Amino acid sequence: MATQLLASSCALCGRHHAGLLCQACRKHHIAIPRTRCRHCAIGLAGAHTCCASCAASPPSFDASFAVTDYAAPTDALVQALKFRAHLPLAAAFADLLMNIVPRDAIASAAVMLAVPLSAERIAQRGFNQAHEIAKPIARAWHLPLATDLCVRVRDTEPQSSLPLAQRRGNMRGAFTLMRRDALIGQHVVLVDDVMTTGETLEALAATLKRNGAARVTNLVFARTPAR
Ligand SMILES: [Zn+2]
Ligand SMILES: [Zn+2]
Repeated sequence: MATQLLASSCALCGRHHAGLLCQACRKHHIAIPRTRCRHCAIGLAGAHTCCASCAASPPSFDASFAVTDYAAPTDALVQALKFRAHLPLAAAFADLLMNIVPRDAIASAAVMLAVPLSAERIAQRGFNQAHEIAKPIARAWHLPLATDLCVRVRDTEPQSSLPLAQRRGNMRGAFTLMRRDALIGQHVVLVDDVMTTGETLEALAATLKRNGAARVTNLVFARTPAR
């Protein structure tokens, strides 16, 4: 499991492997092909392309891509990155994301943004895991990674600890754009490690759209599955 994080062994199964994740684990535990909602990337059964929630109330973002469900055993990888600062995993997540996102989905993209953390959270953690995932993608796709464009003004409670009704209010005003006209007419790609309820990305996308962004596409490594 993810405690075996030697450079020469797979972070999931621990078997000797030159990279961080062996091909077998990538195939059988992580990048398992499944149908996802084109708006929010939640796993879907059957032939649908949009979940009931997005169909009833379309989110502010236009599209989302997720490599895997936020569930065992891959959730341990996210936690190893975030809480034990196993930063090389960010590059592995970036690799996996670039493998699943169709090029035409980001062909019109003009700028990439990692979901910002609050200054307090950065001080506590020392890094923004979303930014670490975004860096190699931005480099490979030749997209500018905007690092000072958007700030998270309030430290919000972790979304999963709040009842559903409070989550939206909790996120309101969480993000501020530093240059109001910077994104007018642009397709913005947002990157985060995990999408749970989607309210964080919704709040950020709503802020970008209010400031003129034309399109918002989310890239997340893991997506909380439907209950
Ligand atoms: Zn493995
Ligand atoms: Zn959806």
